[in-house]
Amino acid sequence: MHFQRLKLSGFKSFVEPAELRIEPGLTGVVGPNGCGKSNLLEALRWVMGEASAKAMRGAGMDDVIFAGSASRPARAFAEVALTAQTDPDDAWGGELEVVRRIERGAGSAYRVNGRDVRAKDVGLIFADAATGAHSPALVSQGRIAAVIAARPAERRMMLEEAAGIAGLHVRRRDAEQK
Ligand code: ATP
Ligand code: MG
Repeated sequence: MHFQRLKLSGFKSFVEPAELRIEPGLTGVVGPNGCGKSNLLEALRWVMGEASAKAMRGAGMDDVIFAGSASRPARAFAEVALTAQTDPDDAWGGELEVVRRIERGAGSAYRVNGRDVRAKDVGLIFADAATGAHSPALVSQGRIAAVIAARPAERRMMLEEAAGIAGLHVRRRDAEQK
């Protein structure tokens, strides 16, 4: 799975629709303090299913919605879309588009290639591709210290996410409940 595009609208400081092309060779995003670099990474984490508002540096999940400024009113929703190139023979026909949208006071909804899905389905798609909201590839501030301080079971979870087998736990729980 190769990420290709990240589109944001009303997400944090990205009030107007913005698009980040994730082309081969992209190694960094630079800009002055507060310009939105971390917000971009958070948008990627968020569209992959991040459930913790704290991990988004907010008190509640609605805090990802543009909160307004002196010259612009707050937005009622935020939307992030991630496009990825996948195997041409897979269930998505080679192109996967995951969209997450949140409306103030109404929570999040997800779509995969235009169809409504559950957060859990999105989690499984990315877990199987050895990525996701908690991927060890997304190293936010404090993460290194968290790895060092983690209990063995937590460290094992990180390794399982990196290996792409984290989704198996969800499937086993589902199977046991049936
Ligand atoms: P640094 O170099 O300091 O790490 P950065 O480029 O990573 O900066 P971000 O943390 O991505 O910057 O962006 C912070 C900006 O996003 C702040 O100006 C903050 O006010 C703004 N911001 C965050 N959430 C919202 C929101 N819900 N509505 C409007 N602006 C927001
Ligand atoms: Mg930052």
